[in-house]
Amino acid sequence: VQRIVVVGASLAGLRCTEALRAEGFGGEVVLVGEERHGPYNRPPLSKAVLAGAAGGLELETTGERAAEWRLGVPATEVSLAARRLQLADGGELGYDGLVVATGLRPRRLPLPGPRRGRHVVRTLDDARNLAAALRPGARVTVLGASFIACEIASVAVDAGCSVTIVAPEAEPMAAVLGAELGAALRRRHEARGVEFRLGTVASKCDGGETLRAVVLSDGTDLPTDLLVEAVGCTPAVDWLEDNGLDLSDGVLCDNRLRVQGHEDVVAAGDVARFPNPLIDDVPRRVEHWTMAVDTARQAALTLLGRTPGPAGFRPLPGFWSDQAGLRIQAFGSPALADAREVVAGDLDGDVAIACHRTGRLIGAVAIGRRRDLIGLRKRLLDERSPLATT
Ligand code: FAD
Repeated sequence: VQRIVVVGASLAGLRCTEALRAEGFGGEVVLVGEERHGPYNRPPLSKAVLAGAAGGLELETTGERAAEWRLGVPATEVSLAARRLQLADGGELGYDGLVVATGLRPRRLPLPGPRRGRHVVRTLDDARNLAAALRPGARVTVLGASFIACEIASVAVDAGCSVTIVAPEAEPMAAVLGAELGAALRRRHEARGVEFRLGTVASKCDGGETLRAVVLSDGTDLPTDLLVEAVGCTPAVDWLEDNGLDLSDGVLCDNRLRVQGHEDVVAAGDVARFPNPLIDDVPRRVEHWTMAVDTARQAALTLLGRTPGPAGFRPLPGFWSDQAGLRIQAFGSPALADAREVVAGDLDGDVAIACHRTGRLIGAVAIGRRRDLIGLRKRLLDERSPLATT
């Protein structure tokens, strides 16, 4: 392998480049990135950056990042058969190895009405735009009740805005945390001033050139100065089309992150869908910071022809979320649980929850209760008790 092209110059792309160098790859590495910024940390975007602070954006690096950088230039298409990548500036790059690390794009809702005053939070530019608009007294409507939606609502209410979360689900974050913890967190947000309109969706925006209100499906006219769409993301795979790949949800890979049918192409980070034997044999995408790091390293090893041990690549998923003055932490796959049990504390305070599927531990969630969470994490990693039977 002489030249490796990494498409997507963010966390997974950077960590993959570092791993290639750390493993002794001496050829050329070219990093192609759509954003004009070099790699930065995304988690602070819906937390400190929205609150007007700059801290935490810098990505620590091992210094093993010697590469040619092409920033502000998206890849537009690729021929995997010819091993040639097309760039938006008309340039073309041949490669011997290709890394797909293009992450996600925020979903936008096709709401009729004015476009001004509508925001998403995925990039640094998005977060800075919204931060500048979060003035005391502003009426902010957040569409979605995911982790990022709740983080944004939390910062906005702290900034003195009046904030309403609108979402079809019955409780925030319930798909991952369960309805009981979701309800407890809703009450904590409500105590800090966030309002919830659950079980409903936005049907249109109202106003002339400037946004005045969001009209909900239940007929409510919600006065709104700023609308934040936090309704999930779709994988950035358009540039990979017409190569016969399974792009139905990210890019389908094997357990080693090799894009199926192509020895010379790997994927990493939010865009990669792969089976993790620690959980089961179903390929899934995982949108967590630590998983981008783990998959990036494995993708680099695969490209260099190194195979994982007989147990395969078995990373433990894990994430955190800061909101309403709390840190929520989780390991494993709590979203797959069919039963949840409070093992320490209680739902309205610090709590540790074991998540089970078909009687086996599959995930752990905690607020505080660090020691209990570490105990659950250890049990999840215990080889003698695989996370799932099916
Ligand atoms: P990304 O960081 O999305 O990077 C992909 C890059 O590829 C982007 O720079 C994009 O512009 C570029 N790109 C896309 N298409 C092209 C193309 N055609 N050509 C060239 N470049 C392209 N995780 C946690 O565990 N905890 C948290 O608290 C947390 N908070 C988050 C808050 C926010 C607001 C966001 C957005 C994410 C958060 N995450 C969190 C998730 C975490 O940041 C992601 O898992 C991580 O950024 C994934 O890294 P990635 O490199 O795979 O993708």
